[in-house]
This record gives sequence, C-alpha cells and structure tokens, in this order.
Amino acid sequence: MNVNEGERQALCPGCGEMKSLGSEAKEGDRVLCDVCAGSAFRLVRQEDQWALEPIPTASCPVCDEVIELDSGVQHGDIVEHCGQAFRLSFEYGAWALEGEAAS
Ligand SMILES: [Zn+2]
Ligand SMILES: [Zn+2]
Repeated sequence: MNVNEGERQALCPGCGEMKSLGSEAKEGDRVLCDVCAGSAFRLVRQEDQWALEPIPTASCPVCDEVIELDSGVQHGDIVEHCGQAFRLSFEYGAWALEGEAAS
C-alpha cells in the first residue's frame, strides 16, 4: 500500500484500524475514534510514521467529569479540578484522582 504523503494515517491502538486524518493533522492533535466508542487519542510523530497514543484520563471524584491528562503524567502528580488539588495515582491499569492533597 502506498502512503500518500499529503494524507496523515495512523493506526488506532484501540481497534487496530488505520485511520485517515486528512492532510492538516499535526502532532498533538486530538483524534476521536468512533470505532473505539469515541475514545480520545493524541496524534504523535514516531520516527517517520504517525501514531495515536491513548490520552490518559481520570474522573474527578467531586464532579465525576472525565479529565484528560497530559501524556507525560506520573503517579503522584497533582491535578486541579473543581477548585481542589488531587493526587494522581495509577491503579489497576487506570488513573485515579485522590482527594488528599489539600492539606
Ligand atoms: Zn479505534
Ligand atoms: Zn471536578
């Protein structure tokens, strides 16, 4: 298969489908995969290919909103939402916010 230079294409890590992203897509773009039930991915450049990486998310314990985290987040980072500071933890393959960082 010939990859058209003008057309960005990246493999979705969720469903394994090649997604066409148009010629305007750029690194850092947010891409929604409708096959993956609307999961959000971030477009990244890996060597000479485009790739999608899952955007880490955690739900706010106060408002239940799902917050999209920066891709470089780490266990113990502080995330602010609802005017409060939460500590980020990684458990059971998912990020969680713990509301103990206020003190
Ligand atoms: Zn997908
Ligand atoms: Zn909140």
